[in-house]
Amino acid sequence: MPNPWPKPEVDGDSRPFWEGLNQGELRIQRCEDCERHIFYPRSICPHCFSDRVRWVLASGRGRIYSYTVVHRAQGPFAEEAPYVVAIVELEEGVRMMSRIVGPREEVAVEKPVRVVFTRVDDELILPFFEVLKEG
Ligand SMILES: [Zn+2]
Repeated sequence: MPNPWPKPEVDGDSRPFWEGLNQGELRIQRCEDCERHIFYPRSICPHCFSDRVRWVLASGRGRIYSYTVVHRAQGPFAEEAPYVVAIVELEEGVRMMSRIVGPREEVAVEKPVRVVFTRVDDELILPFFEVLKEG
């Protein structure tokens, strides 16, 4: 049996994010005072220190801000290498680290991507991204 993936530590700040993934929703936060979006989850806005932070649905679309190809990995990831780990900048302006799935030759900085909810094992669904066909 393959090694299970490490599981996230779900706390009060991040629980809506993880619950959203199980429902096919990519949830981020938005500050009701300065109206900027926030990721990773937290209870105080990092821009203006307001505590009026609410959960909203993200579009699931963005661009590759940066990426790397992992050729050597450990534990449950070893048999999946090589794979692409990227920082994706969502349309809402927040950045998240994830994986890019699909053909590696399509991966490049600034390429448009959209979220793909990917079940990695019995307990965990993660928001990976795929490159959008342009044109
Ligand atoms: Zn704010």
